Amino acid sequence: MRCEMCGREGNLNKADIEGSVLSVCEGCSSFGTVISSKLALRQRSISPYRLQEPEKLLALIPNYPSLIRQKREAISLTQEEFAKKIGEKISLVHKIETGAFDANIAIAKKIERVLGIKLVQEQSVPDAHVQKGPSAAYTIGDILRAKSK
Ligand SMILES: [Zn+2]
Repeated sequence: MRCEMCGREGNLNKADIEGSVLSVCEGCSSFGTVISSKLALRQRSISPYRLQEPEKLLALIPNYPSLIRQKREAISLTQEEFAKKIGEKISLVHKIETGAFDANIAIAKKIERVLGIKLVQEQSVPDAHVQKGPSAAYTIGDILRAKSK
């Protein structure tokens, strides 16, 4: 493709030059109004109207240690029997039930299957960020204050 005004080869823009649409180079496009360019296309693809599905984060429910113990006792399993069923050491079961050890998602899923309870819940990522600290959240007031400095 060559520029329809100067004949130079290169990246061409479609531009409205004095009423006619021409494919022109960067230099010549300044003589008219650019209708489409690579930049314009890129901006369209990150339109704010295209909402993304929020990512899901798996997290253990806060009171899971007592839930595990209550359910295990309800079905008359000792810590030892329960440990065997989930394929972990009894010391680990003891730590999980007393809250001394944070069970990971993989262990929690095994416990869910054995006890038939729900320990893992989905959290959307934006919520998790809000909980982490005030620095992540800006209000319009903050932005206006920053600009007026
Ligand atoms: Zn040109």
